[in-house]
Amino acid sequence: MTTTRTAIVTGSTSGIGLAIAEAFARDGLNVVLNSFSDTPADHALAEKLAKEHKAAVVYIKADMSKGAECRDLVAKAAERFGSVDVLVNNAGIQHVAPVDEFPSEKWDAIIAINLTSAFHTTAAAIPLMKKAGGGRIINVASAHGLVASAYKSAYVSAKHGIMGLTKTVALEVAREKITCNAICPGYVLTPLVEVQIPDQMKAHNMDRETVIREVMLDRQPTKEFATVEQIAATAVFLASPAAAQVNGTHISVDGGWTAQ
Ligand code: NAD
Repeated sequence: MTTTRTAIVTGSTSGIGLAIAEAFARDGLNVVLNSFSDTPADHALAEKLAKEHKAAVVYIKADMSKGAECRDLVAKAAERFGSVDVLVNNAGIQHVAPVDEFPSEKWDAIIAINLTSAFHTTAAAIPLMKKAGGGRIINVASAHGLVASAYKSAYVSAKHGIMGLTKTVALEVAREKITCNAICPGYVLTPLVEVQIPDQMKAHNMDRETVIREVMLDRQPTKEFATVEQIAATAVFLASPAAAQVNGTHISVDGGWTAQ
């Protein structure tokens, strides 16, 4: 029986997932970092977090587009640490195109990684959480789990889907001291978003600040990005005792986007 809680964060070698993993390591949880690669840099990242936060952090490769690997990730984490107490379904990809031109392999990949992976990891984690007497499932959805944007049919469908999965799982496990909730970020300045800024500046002939305010944050009323640290703090709250009665719902961190 372990006393230190264990968290898995899928897709956690960069951006939001990495910030969530780091926040849990800082809180003293055992942490499983994950992505689909298996490079020395992936393992070095786990070692760096372990050293910095004096926590047990390991990297486990698993491709979230493959159901068996999703389930295997949970099994390997439990093998390593004894159980899984916090599951953060964060891995996600994006592709932008009109629906009549949307490549079907991109549709399949987005649905698999952004939605179906959470079904598999959740199904694998629930028996462990029941056995341990409780747990927390946190799905990183999006403002696009609540509202749509043109040209993002697969992403919006996957994110709306994960909101449905969140509510259904919450009902099924409510008596087991397991909660299931979603975080709905608006635009977050991850490395992925940062690299798009120079292209947008060129395309619109605008300076950096104008591109951010007028183009990227068009629908975000605060005209500021959410930060990875703010998303991570929300995940830490949802995993804390204070959130024991927060179940089957979402927390938006979108500067007011979905209030419109
Ligand atoms: P990111 O690209 O920085 O990180 C994505 C992570 O997922 C990376 O670690 C990547 O290696 C991993 N990943 C990709 N495909 C994978 C696969 N097949 N198997 C395992 N891991 C895989 O992206 P991010 O911006 O940090 O996004 C993280 C989550 O937050 C996603 O679900 C995304 O939809 C959501 N989100 C992001 C924003 C934003 O503005 N950045 C807004 C709302 C929601």
